[in-house]
Amino acid sequence: MHTTSKAESFLTMSIPITDTTAAVTARTRLLRTPGELRIASERWRSSGLSLGMVPTMGALHDGHRSLIRRARAECDRVAVSIFVNPRQFGADEDFARYPRPLERDLAMLAGEGVDAAYVPDAAAMYPRGAATTVSVGSSLTRDFEGETRPGHFDGVALVVAKLLIAARCDRAYFGQKDAQQCAVVRRLAADLDIGTTVVVCPTVRDGDGLALSSRNAYLSPDARRRALAIPRALGEALRRFAAGERRAEVLAALVRDRLEEGDSLRVDYVGVVDADSFEPLTEAGRGARIVVAATIAGTRLIDTVGLGIDEPPDVPSLVGAMVELDARSGRALRSRTCSVR
Ligand code: AMP
Repeated sequence: MHTTSKAESFLTMSIPITDTTAAVTARTRLLRTPGELRIASERWRSSGLSLGMVPTMGALHDGHRSLIRRARAECDRVAVSIFVNPRQFGADEDFARYPRPLERDLAMLAGEGVDAAYVPDAAAMYPRGAATTVSVGSSLTRDFEGETRPGHFDGVALVVAKLLIAARCDRAYFGQKDAQQCAVVRRLAADLDIGTTVVVCPTVRDGDGLALSSRNAYLSPDARRRALAIPRALGEALRRFAAGERRAEVLAALVRDRLEEGDSLRVDYVGVVDADSFEPLTEAGRGARIVVAATIAGTRLIDTVGLGIDEPPDVPSLVGAMVELDARSGRALRSRTCSVR
């Protein structure tokens, strides 16, 4: 499956770049086409400067910021792409309503000292007549996100291949939260001899333990509270692993049971997998990952932890959890537990 035609036509409209944007991006060059990205990259690289690339879909948060800061620390120049890629959304998914706060994003990139914001529109990325597909096979894309979102990884593989080829970057930064995507991108970069080092960065969580995601903005305060079942369940599995449990089936069942308690969310999948191949495991060793996807009031969230690697997320206890939310973004400002009389 590829894009819906509705999605394609929606994004052939350019995202308007206003005067304010130009002012905001005085220190961050705005690049709009693969050609502009290639030229900027060639200039830097011919001056002996290394380039780090951070691919995103915008609606930037502290998870993205952590990737950008890592890139800044390791590379001479940093480019961040913002492109809501229609090819990785299914027909019934949230492509049209995906948040696109471009001005705020560009201000954030300027504040982080990013050298280039690459903001192509769909016509620049997929001009009329574009017919090439990229598909990563094997167990990497068979299950989990691959099964639940048919065609999703073809869209991811195509857009990432295009970004890395145009940028010719030395390093590209991805978040561990999208663990299956990381495994797919690593394979893709190796198989296509792209020559970019894929760097995977730890998941950044909000104060209440929920993994940061642009989609968290969809959650009502009630849905957000229910979503905390995800980091809570993963934390419990980490503790069981630390206490010696190695049976993947038992760890997965524990997570599923916790998520299904109280009917507050719908579980799409729970898996215990090898981090590189995404083959489901029967025996979980150090470095194996638990991957989870669940839908809460229409919002689909994914999360993951590395067994024997990650610390259990710090989640307020079920009873008496007080989470103060930012009214606009839905992000947790602070959380505390309180006694209930
Ligand atoms: P997205 O804009 O959601 O496509 O994400 C762009 C990149 O940021 C991907 O490599 C994500 O894995 C990464 N990312 C998203 N959320 C987080 C997070 N909470 N912590 C670390 N990286 C993240």
